[in-house]
Amino acid sequence: MLDQIEQWIDQTNSAFLARRVCCDRFSKVFEGFYSVSFLNNAFFVVVDKIPKPAFPELREMGLDDFIDMDITGITYKNTYYILPHVINNIRLHFHELVHVAQWKKLGTRGFIERYIREIQNYGYDKAPLETVAYFLDNHFVNIGKKFDIPSFISEKI
Ligand SMILES: [Zn+2]
Repeated sequence: MLDQIEQWIDQTNSAFLARRVCCDRFSKVFEGFYSVSFLNNAFFVVVDKIPKPAFPELREMGLDDFIDMDITGITYKNTYYILPHVINNIRLHFHELVHVAQWKKLGTRGFIERYIREIQNYGYDKAPLETVAYFLDNHFVNIGKKFDIPSFISEKI
């Protein structure tokens, strides 16, 4: 199953390669939170429908929350997908970049395993990988003290 998900993610990211936009455009607004080198290697794609793996097994694994939820963004490795109406929502970009840092730290397999386990155990709203991302995007919009997010994720994950 994990192989299948991983393969699906790679195919999805490849399919959208030509349409992805580099996050280096946020280097000014996210200064102090995300380094230029981190942003240089992060991307987003604007899509009309958020791509999600739709394997029936995922439902059997208790991931209905994840499958059915209407979300405006999702991150796969160093690329996140957002809907057109949130393209200027800087908080959402910040949030998805937290996930990019998590993917980077945990590795593909590590992130997928942990995300699935957390959704199963806590549900989406209380999944720690999500709550930390919400905590940090909230910190950002409230003009909190600047610190390097990928380093923070690396230490606290
Ligand atoms: Zn999230």
